[in-house]
Amino acid sequence: MKKGITTSTAEKKETPEGLWSKCPECGYICTMTELRENMFVCPKCTHHHRIGSAEYFEILFDDNKYEVLFENIRSKDFLHFTDLKSYGKRLDEIWAKTDITDSIRIGKGTVKGLSLMVGCMDFEFIGGSLGSVMGERIARAIDVCIEENIPMMIICKSGGARMMESAFSLMQLAKVSGKLSQLTDKKIPYISLQTDPSFGGISASFGMLGDLNIAEPGALIGFAGPRVIKETIKKDLPEGFQRSEFLLEHGFLDFIVPRKELKEKLATVLALFKN
Ligand SMILES: [Zn+2]
Repeated sequence: MKKGITTSTAEKKETPEGLWSKCPECGYICTMTELRENMFVCPKCTHHHRIGSAEYFEILFDDNKYEVLFENIRSKDFLHFTDLKSYGKRLDEIWAKTDITDSIRIGKGTVKGLSLMVGCMDFEFIGGSLGSVMGERIARAIDVCIEENIPMMIICKSGGARMMESAFSLMQLAKVSGKLSQLTDKKIPYISLQTDPSFGGISASFGMLGDLNIAEPGALIGFAGPRVIKETIKKDLPEGFQRSEFLLEHGFLDFIVPRKELKEKLATVLALFKN
């Protein structure tokens, strides 16, 4: 409003995006560096921020060294599905702006010297949705696990099946479940870590099929969302419904592990299984 201030809005220096982070739970503001050093857990209220496969791999694998497998398997618009835009176009747009190639990445490495195959979902890729690529990558990862006698872990973070692949998505539930039974036959452990959120087709199949089903604190885990359930049963839902703590209390989970203890606890579990 004042005379003499001539900087146009476009030239104004804004605080760079992503430098600060605000906790959605308690509103605590800290720098991204501080949050990263704290494994993306709020230093004030221990809220576990949503992170992707790169962050989980860094937390888990020794010296942040791991081999990424099956990146060449890519989604296709075989149904010519169009909602707001065509599925093919949607895929092209995501591939153009991120180097994540689908909703799951498979990493093979060691956790405190013990080999582990980890499939970790990326929520930023169409909500971590379960499609044919996720199914195929997990299936092939399991083949390697069987060949090399390596335990398997899947870190779930997904809204459920990918509607753009319709029945092809749903087939993955049976396919992955079938592959997991091959692991069982070979007595190779499979661990399912459910993080916020783990829903739909994920919890309806391999999310709940772990030899150990574990979760991060406060994660929302379920099949249908609380709003849908409330509208269906026309009753208020109990407090903490569908949170990890509620599920642990009701026997759905083996234990809850804070992110900061994840590597240590996992190494202990893997050593126990091995011996
Ligand atoms: Zn917080």
